[in-house]
Order: sequence, then C-alpha cells, then structure tokens
Amino acid sequence: MPPLFPPYAEKAIQTYLHHEGFDAFCPRAVLFDMDGVIYHSMPHHARCWQEAMATFGLKMTEADVYATEGMRGVETIRLMVREQQGRDITEAEAQAMYDEKARLFALLPPAPIMEGVLELMEKLKAAGLQILVVTGSGQRPLFRRLLDDFHNFLTEDKIVTAYDVARGKPAPDPYLVGLQKAGGLQPWQAVVVENAPMGVRAGVAARIFTVAVNSGPLPNSALAAEGAHLVYSRMTQLCDDVFQSTN
Ligand code: MG
Repeated sequence: MPPLFPPYAEKAIQTYLHHEGFDAFCPRAVLFDMDGVIYHSMPHHARCWQEAMATFGLKMTEADVYATEGMRGVETIRLMVREQQGRDITEAEAQAMYDEKARLFALLPPAPIMEGVLELMEKLKAAGLQILVVTGSGQRPLFRRLLDDFHNFLTEDKIVTAYDVARGKPAPDPYLVGLQKAGGLQPWQAVVVENAPMGVRAGVAARIFTVAVNSGPLPNSALAAEGAHLVYSRMTQLCDDVFQSTN
C-alpha cells in the first residue's frame, strides 16, 4: 500500500511531526467534517443565515457565514447583535432567531453529496482505513441521512455530533471524541478533513494532521492561517491525490 499522501506532502508531514513531537504518522482513520465537506450544503446555509438575520435587522455577508461556520449558531447571533445593535440578548432570544434560520433550511431540498467524496471514501476503505464523521450539528434527521447516504462506509457508532461534547469546535473536543470512537487512536494515527477555519482550528488543537478542502468563498490562506497542514481547493483534488505515490 503506497503512503496516503504523495511525496510533495512529505514536508508538511515532517513539519507536523516535529511541531507536535511525534515520531511517526501512521493514519488508520479519517475524520470528516459534515457541512461543506461531505455535503455541498454551505450555499444553503449561507442563504438561510442571510435571509433569517435580515428579518431581525442584522447584516450577515456570505463571508461572515463561512468565517463563523462551526461555532454554535446562538453564539454567532449574540455576537452579531452586540456588534451591530450594541445590546446583549439572552440565549433564548438568540435561539428563537436561530430557529428561524433552521426553519428556512428545512424548506430547502437536501444538499447534494460533495463531488469526489464517495470515490475518496472508497479508496480509504479499500486501504483499510476507518471513516468517521465529526460534526457540530444537532439535527437528528441529518444523522439518519448520513447513515443512509454513506452506509457502505459509516456506522452510527462512528459519528460524533453536538450531543457527544459539551464544547464544540473550535475546541478540540469533537475530534478527541472522534479518536476515541475510532478505537482509542492517537492523534498521529488519524487525519481530519475540514472546510472551515473554526473546524481547522479544532483539528489542529486536537494535534491531528488536518487537511483543509476549501469549498467556499474564503481564500485558501484563511485555512492555512488556522494551521491546516495541507490545503486543497476541491474534494476531487484530494481524492486524486491519495495513494498516488508517483506524482
Ligand atoms: Mg464544515
């Protein structure tokens, strides 16, 4: 079996090992984020955030949606109200505003599976790597859809959700739970795949080799700045790259 990443990634791997003080990088599991990584769902989220917040007199750009992805929705709302309206609102008020965003989201058709992700999972599975999903989402219908769409690769015990942790991304906790659910792996035995700055920060904080796949409008540099060890512009590029020992 060739190495997971091609030779040009060796420098990034060595930098990672040196920085974390690990001896070897031996991936046995890949921990995928959900929104913007395995589902092309961020355009839907962006549209619903902007529309819902506008009804409360809040301005939220598409870039704002991507920059705050991964944070708890109510926290994002409380920050925006403080910044734009100079007042503090309660968790319950913020929740009511968030519910409007969730209501609009539920009206949209299901987001498509990200191009390249099924092929990538096929390669990983063939090589004997475990596949897990680590999401900050708390929407149970989405978890059922996950098990349906990815039944060849994923079981319920390999999904980390908002219900598994007290602290969400950008804290490392969700990815640390992912390592546990993968059978008690060490950070150097896994890879994180993320699309958002907050998610990259969480993977890096968990001391896991973190690959960013940029599926949104932020510059790649925004993901590199959070410490992503490799940055791809598309999932299909990552899929093409894995187990290619000769390029
Ligand atoms: Mg994401």
